[in-house]
Amino acid sequence: DTPKTTFRRVMLKISGEALMGDTAYGLHPPTVERIAREVKVVHDMGVEICMVIGGGNIFRGLQGSAQGMERTTADYMGMLATVMNALAMQSALETIGVYCRVISAIRMDEVAEPYIRRRAVRHLEKKRVCIFAAGTGNPYFTTDTAATLRANEMACEAILKGTKVDGVYDKDPEKHDDAVRYDRITYDDVLQKHLKVMDASAIALARDNNLPIIVFSLDEPGGFKGILAGEGTYTKVH
Ligand code: UDP
Repeated sequence: DTPKTTFRRVMLKISGEALMGDTAYGLHPPTVERIAREVKVVHDMGVEICMVIGGGNIFRGLQGSAQGMERTTADYMGMLATVMNALAMQSALETIGVYCRVISAIRMDEVAEPYIRRRAVRHLEKKRVCIFAAGTGNPYFTTDTAATLRANEMACEAILKGTKVDGVYDKDPEKHDDAVRYDRITYDDVLQKHLKVMDASAIALARDNNLPIIVFSLDEPGGFKGILAGEGTYTKVH
């Protein structure tokens, strides 16, 4: 029985670290495959899926620049890391029969399609999963901002931000037993309380375009499907 949903098109944002599994660096193929299977279940529900995957499991611009590397160069390396993650996810999705395109914000035509908005929309209409790689294509941004930007451009109804915990808490639930989860919270509260949902530019871009952010646990098996079917616990930033 396929679960039902009211969502037509969504953006799934996951960090690069989500693809690491329990390892300390890089890609953990069984974890990539598990997430791909979760995407397939939602795809089978008829939802059009955009994805942005971070690059933190391979390289972060800030880390590089802290080690003396020029910031913009380090950021470009971070963006390239997201392309590797996107290709790994594409491979895992296509192995289980989900058609998928990797669309890069930095041209590398032999590896991925260039970003052309109307073309990406067409892929979605044809039920191909679109993985937007290379962030926004600009240094000094993050993949959270890229996810928000593309979600707006693709007219997604929400960003689903998969994390290690099932929502936004008033303090780190992995460190504090008495941390309290918000069911709903406003963009402005997230910004004022400096809650670690997404970086401030991403939150502001979502707020200015009324794009809801749903924070849920990607570690919970079936979490992605559950959220779309209106089940499970999560925080809605609106
Ligand atoms: N990055 C960038 N511009 C973008 C998106 C990403 O310069 O539009 C770089 C930045 O250096 C960042 C790295 O790519 O540290 C990896 O992305 P991010 O840190 O967002 O990955 P995540 O934390 O989600 O794994």
